[in-house]
Amino acid sequence: MATISLPRLSGRIEALARFGALPGGGVTRSAWSPQHEQARAWLLDEMRAAGLAPWVDAAGNVFGGLGMRAFDAARPAVVTGSHIDTVPEGGILDGALGVLAGLEALHVIRETASSHTHPLAVAAWSDEEGRYGSLFGSRAFCGALDVGRLPDMAAADGERLVDAMARAGFDALRAPDAQAPSGAVAAYVELHIEQGPRLEEAGIPIGVVEAIVGVRRTRVIFIGQADHAGTTPMERRRDGFLAAAEFALKARDLVVKRGSGRSVTNVGVVSVHPGVSNIVPARGELVHEMREPDPAVLDRLARECTTLARRVARRRQVQVELRPISATVPAPCAPRVQAVIEAAAGDLGLATQHMYSAAGHDAQNLAAITDAGMIFIPSKGGRSHRVDEMSDWDAIDRGANVLLHTLIALAR
Ligand SMILES: [Zn+2]
Repeated sequence: MATISLPRLSGRIEALARFGALPGGGVTRSAWSPQHEQARAWLLDEMRAAGLAPWVDAAGNVFGGLGMRAFDAARPAVVTGSHIDTVPEGGILDGALGVLAGLEALHVIRETASSHTHPLAVAAWSDEEGRYGSLFGSRAFCGALDVGRLPDMAAADGERLVDAMARAGFDALRAPDAQAPSGAVAAYVELHIEQGPRLEEAGIPIGVVEAIVGVRRTRVIFIGQADHAGTTPMERRRDGFLAAAEFALKARDLVVKRGSGRSVTNVGVVSVHPGVSNIVPARGELVHEMREPDPAVLDRLARECTTLARRVARRRQVQVELRPISATVPAPCAPRVQAVIEAAAGDLGLATQHMYSAAGHDAQNLAAITDAGMIFIPSKGGRSHRVDEMSDWDAIDRGANVLLHTLIALAR
């Protein structure tokens, strides 16, 4: 039975981790940054050295082909991959694992001359973490880019996507050209760290993802009245911040009590205007985020949170505006791909657990154009998006072998 080389895979993981490495461990490698572009050049060299045909598309996605040099509907490809950009002060495995295990799997398939009817490709999708636009590269590949927004897309610090891509040698307005021909992808499978504690706590080495959550972000703005914070009687104040605070607490309760048990919510951005201690806040503004794998439940929770915001505003005599920021639809993974992953794990004697992904992944875009699936491995302590994110090397070895045999079966 073919098997991946853990020394070669771990060597590549450590080599990639040097691009954007931080002194205390971890890595900052934002899409289109110089560190990212150096990592891209390194990855292209590694693909070439592994005997794959490398290329980069108009959206900055990197591909290494085995038996292919471009996507072609006449010869549908089995595709694997993930991303090599990271969040600021992120870990060395988020994304990198899926790309490098995919590269290793294709390297082994080539070396062992495993027979495959379908050509294969490993992808590193650009800007998965969304410095400029989340899941940017896979969106472009799947024809899901909002083309009209391209000129205005910008990072939180204001830098525009068009400028960042130009610096890296790309024309952002051409990114839609990266769309794959219809029918060019036979199946997609992505290996990723779980980024949560469930597999580790259950003592199960392999997670088979059934669905990827939809994420909905809404800017909720409560508009009251600025007043002197000393002389205005308490009962006359129309405090925008207190309304926002009440909404944050009640929305949390609502999602916990009325959600599916898998629903989660977060308020990670709050601002108060004018933001001085001797003025009653005229405005309290927050970004409300919800995640849930069932589309009907997510829709219902979104409606209920809107009603809640209006009720809080009425009671506190302020106005409220709700502005949708982004909404992704929950993406079911293909039963066929889940079954192949299950069988590959079974052949390797590894127990599996079916689960949903609470984080967004490129696979959710691919799920719209082909049969897509994901393999999870345990994350130590459930830690991710932080510098000490890690998985045991044994866990990485197991996950990469499940990926290898899943790809072999899908490409047969
Ligand atoms: Zn990731």
